[in-house]
Amino acid sequence: MFFQRRPLAAVIGGMLLSCTAHAGKLAIVIDDFGYRPTEENKVLQMPAALSVAVLPDAPGARQMATKAHQSGHEVLIHLPMAPLSKQPLEKNTLTPEMSSEEIARILRSAVSNVPYAVGLNNHMGSKMTSSLPGMQKVMQALNQYNFYFLDSMTIGNSQSVPAAKGTRVKVLKRRVFLDDSQDINAVRQQFTRAVKLAQRDGYAIAIGHPHPNTMRVLQQMLPTLLADITLVRPSQLLNEPLHGTTAAPAKPQQRPQKLVFQPPGLCKVQPQPVPAMKALDAVWDSASQSAVVITLKQLF
Ligand SMILES: [Zn+2]
Repeated sequence: MFFQRRPLAAVIGGMLLSCTAHAGKLAIVIDDFGYRPTEENKVLQMPAALSVAVLPDAPGARQMATKAHQSGHEVLIHLPMAPLSKQPLEKNTLTPEMSSEEIARILRSAVSNVPYAVGLNNHMGSKMTSSLPGMQKVMQALNQYNFYFLDSMTIGNSQSVPAAKGTRVKVLKRRVFLDDSQDINAVRQQFTRAVKLAQRDGYAIAIGHPHPNTMRVLQQMLPTLLADITLVRPSQLLNEPLHGTTAAPAKPQQRPQKLVFQPPGLCKVQPQPVPAMKALDAVWDSASQSAVVITLKQLF
């Protein structure tokens, strides 16, 4: 049977290109639950893939964690950790000077106050998370549980990844804060930034708070999420590579520093332009021995 090479190459090329178009995964965690039931109840009415982090000593901790779980949201313990700046602290805020026993006691109390939690992230914590000995005590205590640790990244040199070495604790990192500025346009911009990062890198984690403008932006923008963005829970990202850390260094040739917006469905193109048929020939050459091609050859 006469076999037409180029049309088949085009078919294979199209198949391979569509396979490389990746769906970005976006996880959104709303922090500081337990103090503002009116706003928090609005969060719980949003898509169940939004996750919530509950302050363990907040008056509504147990109730909101239970409600969040019952409405299908993933629950995290929002564990207070010492910041570098002077500000009012939550009860049981972890400090680097605390003993391992004290940290383990606070964690036990947090676990008991926040039922259904499957992970933990830090509230504040620029001082605590930048202390390797401090974070090693946290990770050793966490190792007794089956929690992941989502680093809120309140400081650039957080030690969560090296501190988790030798433990079973999986570490994730926040990429975008949605509402450092509560101005509605700023929140919108941050939401868009999180979407672009998810598209570029395959996934991104954004953290927001139950502020009225954050709620408005989520209500407006979640339904407009592009078809190639999937809202996920942080626990669905535990097998993804960490971005921009020493534990899993980014490959420079694949991780351009500049943000590049990719419209839905657009495959990443190679940096060097290649004439269309030459590209397809190259695809053909590399794929012609595959089982798929052999099967297609038989069909054509
Ligand atoms: Zn917080």
